[in-house]
Formats: sequence, C-alpha cells, structure tokens
Amino acid sequence: MMYEDSYLVKSCIIAENRRDKPYIDEVADACPFCPGHESDIDEIRLQVKEHAKPFQVKIVNNKYPVCDTQKGLYGVHDVVIDTPDHLAHPKDFTEMHWEVVLISMQKRWHQIAKDPKISFIQIFKNYGKNAGASIKHSHWQIIALAQTPYSIRSQHLQYHAFKDKEGNCYFCTKLKTIEKEYIIFETKNWLAIAPEVSQFAHETWLISKSHKKHYGELGEEALKECGGLLKRVLMGYDKVRPSGSFNICFIGGGIRDSLEHHFYIKIIPRLGEWAGFELATNCYINTVHPKTHAQVMKNILRQ
Ligand SMILES: [Zn+2]
Ligand SMILES: [Zn+2]
Repeated sequence: MMYEDSYLVKSCIIAENRRDKPYIDEVADACPFCPGHESDIDEIRLQVKEHAKPFQVKIVNNKYPVCDTQKGLYGVHDVVIDTPDHLAHPKDFTEMHWEVVLISMQKRWHQIAKDPKISFIQIFKNYGKNAGASIKHSHWQIIALAQTPYSIRSQHLQYHAFKDKEGNCYFCTKLKTIEKEYIIFETKNWLAIAPEVSQFAHETWLISKSHKKHYGELGEEALKECGGLLKRVLMGYDKVRPSGSFNICFIGGGIRDSLEHHFYIKIIPRLGEWAGFELATNCYINTVHPKTHAQVMKNILRQ
C-alpha cells in the first residue's frame, strides 16, 4: 500500500512482507541467485544464455515484492541477476557483458511498459550492505508501479516547467553550459559529471547527450557506450574505496504522461550514513567538493 501526503511532499510504501527478507552475504550455498538454486525462484521473466555458462543475465520475480495488488498497490517487482558468479564485481564485467545486461533490462522495460496499468518504472542497483543490498550476489531491481510516487510526480512537473529561450529542457541546457571542472569524461552519447549539487561524496551522473525521456528510448549505441562508462566509474570508485557499497539509479520521466524529462543515471558510492541533519532537512552535508571528485576520477581513469 502506498501512502502519500501532498502537503509534506512525501510518499511511502508499506510492505511488511519484506521484513522476512534474509541477509545473504558470502555463502554461495544459501544464495537463491546462484546456478542450481532455480527452485527458489518462482518465475523466470527473461534470460540470456552464454556458451559454457549457466546464464549471463536472468530476470526473475522478487520473492519479497513491494507491490501487492491485493493490498491496493498494483505493480511488478523484478530482480535482474547480472552474473552467474556469486562473488563477481560489476567493475570486472567485460564491456560486452555490461552491454548484454543493459540491453536485457531495456527489453524487460519494454515488456513491462506494455501493461497499460503501469505508469512508472524504476531501475536501480544496490551493491553492498551500506547500499541496502540484502544479497551479496550482484543484481539489479526493477520496480514498476501503477501509481507514481507523489515526490516523483511533483519532480516531473517541476522538470517539465523548465524551458530555455530555444525551448530546450533543463539537461539539454545544462549540457551546453556546464563548467569543465565538473566534467569527468565525455563520449559520443554521454557526459559523465560530478553534479554541482552533489548530495553524496563522489556522486557521479551519466547524462544522455541526446534528449531521451526514459530508458526505453535509448538506442543500441548509447546502451553499448553506457556499459563501458558504468564499468569505468565503478573501477574509479574501487580505487577511492575498494569493495565499497554503491547505488546506481536510472532517472527518467513517466511512461504514460506527456511531461518532458531527460534520462540520466546517478551513481552514488555509500561512504557514510545519513545523519540527523540530512534526515531533518533533506539537505546533505557532502565532505568532497564535486570539482575535487571530478579531478580525482580523471586522475584515476587516466592511469
Ligand atoms: Zn549467489
Ligand atoms: Zn533534454
């Protein structure tokens, strides 16, 4: 069930079933995402096989879904198992492997988006205990809901309201005006930056250089490049804090509305906990200037 308070601009989902989620760390024997544990999974929703390996990417139902039609929250909750190897770190995936992961998730995105009841799809990765992962085995999650959370709806409306003199959206404008000290690297389809308003130390954004509303609109070349960039960012993070926790969040617009949005990806290393000030104000105290972060990443990635 989703509860919202429009005056406080807050939403929450009550999903008591997730209280029973186990924490599975090093022990591959107990891991439902490892090959040989298929009986722990009710439904395989998409699978990519590879020679000599049980699978390369497998998208399955989440055993502890946040949505529950019986309780009034219609939706889909998937787990994307992006490697058969329990201890593999995504920074070590080949660029080809990353490409398969991103293409598989986009295929699933399109499958889900066909359901006329779904209005919002969130793709994200929690890696490591500090990032909220309850299973060590690398994976992503896709949560698609009939009801877009209030905080997201108001953000979409605010985003839509921005237009520069030429009618460009906020990010299309930003891409032309961002100071070079914030830029980490650039490819044909993406700009990697340390955002000026970085809420977390070493936060990185990958912004699509062409105006794409959401993940479903990205072309094959952009997905291919994106995999290589995510790998490079994670390799950089690993030098800053080896084996540290991180989150990757895909940010885009709604799938059934006409509101403008511009797709980008947030990559956040989880180096500290939210404290009282952050919880009280939603204003984060960041101890690393984004320009310093951009320079640190440039130095690491140049090596
Ligand atoms: Zn595993
Ligand atoms: Zn744009």
